[in-house]
Formats: sequence, structure tokens, C-alpha cells
Amino acid sequence: MSSIESVLETADSNTDAALERLFALLRMPSISTDPAYHSDCVATADWLVAELSSLGFDASRRDTPGKPMVVAHGGPQDGPHVLFYGHYDVQPADPLNLWKSDPFDPQIEERDGAKVIRARGAADDKGQLMTFVEACRAWIETSGALPLRVTILFEGEEESHSPSLVPFLKENAEELTADIALICDTGMWDTQTPSICTMLRGMVAEEIIIRAADRDLHSGGYGGPAANPIRVLSHILASLHDDQGRVTLDGFYDGVHEVPGELAQQWESLGFDAEEFLGKVGLSVPAGEQGISALHQIWARPTCEFNGILGGYTGDGFKTVLPAEARAKISCRLVWDQDPLAIREALRARVHHLLPADCEVEFIPHGADRASVMAVDNPAFEAARQALADEWPKEAVYTGGGGSIPIAGHFKQVLGLDSMLIGFGQDDDAIHSPNEKYDLNSFTGGTRSWVRVMAALAK
Ligand SMILES: [Zn+2]
Repeated sequence: MSSIESVLETADSNTDAALERLFALLRMPSISTDPAYHSDCVATADWLVAELSSLGFDASRRDTPGKPMVVAHGGPQDGPHVLFYGHYDVQPADPLNLWKSDPFDPQIEERDGAKVIRARGAADDKGQLMTFVEACRAWIETSGALPLRVTILFEGEEESHSPSLVPFLKENAEELTADIALICDTGMWDTQTPSICTMLRGMVAEEIIIRAADRDLHSGGYGGPAANPIRVLSHILASLHDDQGRVTLDGFYDGVHEVPGELAQQWESLGFDAEEFLGKVGLSVPAGEQGISALHQIWARPTCEFNGILGGYTGDGFKTVLPAEARAKISCRLVWDQDPLAIREALRARVHHLLPADCEVEFIPHGADRASVMAVDNPAFEAARQALADEWPKEAVYTGGGGSIPIAGHFKQVLGLDSMLIGFGQDDDAIHSPNEKYDLNSFTGGTRSWVRVMAALAK
């Protein structure tokens, strides 16, 4: 095997040609949500198949009821095996008038003394997936082969809720199963600090409708004796937290664990500034669970939040009505081993417990997904973290993610794989917005990072 240094040199010397390849990919308007671009999505999949085939991958376009998948196999037939995931579809570019140039005519722009690539999909996710392809190229051009067994899966429906993904994983489970999945669709902690996201919150969501009288009532005629669904609903909602910000549902914290000391130390070292974080959205004082830092609240603690509430007269002016019904949409972000279905049951039990005579409740469930917590004691994590630290100015950190990335859950549930979420995006990339960009440094540093991570995982 060639030394890493010579592979990195190849990667560096390829930068101009790599940008040309990325630009060719960015010129294809693979907008998955708009049927008008269906043939562009297929053409993009074909382009990727050709690109991977030219590197010696056994690559194919795999049609689905939606947009095609691209699957490719390369490297030795035995030894460590990674599944690399990225998506080639993009968000619509609207509103077009806010772009400085055609979103599908990529440009290099100077910003604050650094070069950025501006185009729809530059960061999400074409630039990111090409970092891995270019790393593969550097290995193959330098040593004639990949250092480990690689299966690539590129999806074309990520921006439209991945309807074909789980069926495709199920049908092709044997072909796609590897030792670990690498997902390149996230960001660095900052421009100096790479990260591996190892914890993603899950969610359970529920809509509650409280009904009382069989029609809206006049508050002069019935106010007093008639049950008011808004009051009932408010009482229920107010009961869900104590004055320390903790959720009061029975068993809510079952399966919530302490953050292990070493991980907590890494998080501490990030110097997360809660005031600055809140300041960006016009807030100043951390709410939520008392005594728990804002970062821990987002990455490692569950929530119960009210996302919508509706009832009675909400138009202009005033109407003295006792409404026949009131409704609320509630979602809980979940961590560690919390069981979404048990929490749904506890919520329903609380509602029934507080429901007065003459009132009825209807529940509408809206999704229930466990948190994804990766097994970082798998040596691959530490190997990758070290490899990233070798590339960037600052030590790589294990981070959490407050939201969810469904693909990681699907890989776990369907293929039994842990995922390493390693990405090189930055907070200001404006993904999904006008003037999306990807730092040139993210592209070249990302490519070099994958060269190193592949070598580390090959051992
Ligand atoms: Zn993405």
C-alpha cells in the first residue's frame, strides 16, 4: 500500500480537475421534489455511475418507483468493509431572484479572503459526496486500488423524504451490509474542528383534540356550567412540566442516561457559549431543565414541546365563544434508550386522568422514532477521530445532533449498522437557501480527510 502522504499528494494535485468534475455534477438540476426534473435526476445518477465505473467500481443505476439509487462496489473482497452514503438530489433553488448567479452554473467566489463554491447542492450534498469519490480516486491513482472494501450508496430522494429508501435497503440488505456506514451530509463544529456526530435525538409526536359541548356556545349563556375545552387543554399542557423544567409524565426519563465523563469533557472543550447561541435568536436566559447546560439539553436530554395550539375564535376583533373543541400538537425529542411508544402511552394516560366529565379526547399519532446512539466503543470511531485530528488544526470531537437524520436510523434498523456521520459543511453554507456555498477548504480538506479515514479503517 502506498503511504498516506503520497495519496494525499495525489489528492492535492487533482484539485483543479476535481473541481471540474464537481462543477459538472452541480450543473445538473437534480431537484427530486419537482417532477419536471425527473429526467435530470436520472441523468445525474447515470453521470455518477459513469464516474464510479471509470474508477474501476462495479457501479450501477438501480431504478426504484421514485428516483434511482446508485450502488457501487470497489476494493478488496475481504477485510474491513464500509458503506458510504450521500445523496445527489437537491432542494429547489427558489427564490431565484435572490441568487447572485444561476444556481446551476457553479461559481468560485472570494469571501472573507477564502474561496467558496457557490451553487445549489454545493454543500448539500454533491460537494460532500464528491469528497469521498475524490479520495477513492486518489487511492486508486496512487496505489492502483482502494485500501479497503467500499460499497457506495447514493440516494436521489433525500430532499423529498426518501420514500424508496427503506424498501430498497430491505430488498438489497445483503448487498449493502458492511461493518459500518459512513454518512457524509453533516458539518464540522467550526472551520478548524472536525466532528463525528454520534448521537441524534428521536421523536414522538401526538395531536390531541379535546371536545366538550356538541356546538360552540355563548360565554354569557353557558360560561360557568359548560366545560370549556381550551381550559381543559391548558390544564393538561400545564401539568406536563414542573417548575424545574422537567417533564412530569410517568416513566418519561426511563432510558435516559448520563453523558459519559469523557464525552462530557469533549463537549466542555468546545467552549459552547449559551448566551451567544441564544443571542442569535433574540433570547438571553436558558429555559428548559434547570441546572443542565444548553448544549447538553440539545444533544443529550429529552424535551416535551408544544408545537401548535388551536381553539375558539382567533380572528380579528372578539367573539365571546366557548368552543366545542380545542387541539394541541405536542412533540417530544428523545434521547438514549427512551421508548417512544411508552411515552405516547404515558401522555395519553395523563390526558385521560385529567379529562373531566362531559369531555372527550381524540388522539392522532404523528410518528415515533427512537434516538440513534452510535456504539463509539467500536474501534472504528476512535480510528476515524484520530485520522480527522491528523488533518485539521483542532482535535476531532464527538458531537450530538438535536434533530434527527433518518438515514442513520434506517441503517441501524434495516442493516444493523452503526453510522459515522462525518461531514465538512459549515453553519453558514446556506443549504436549502439562496446562494448555497461550500468552502473550497471543506472540499479539499474533506477529500484529504477521507483519504486518512479510509487508511485508518483499513487497519
Ligand atoms: Zn443533505
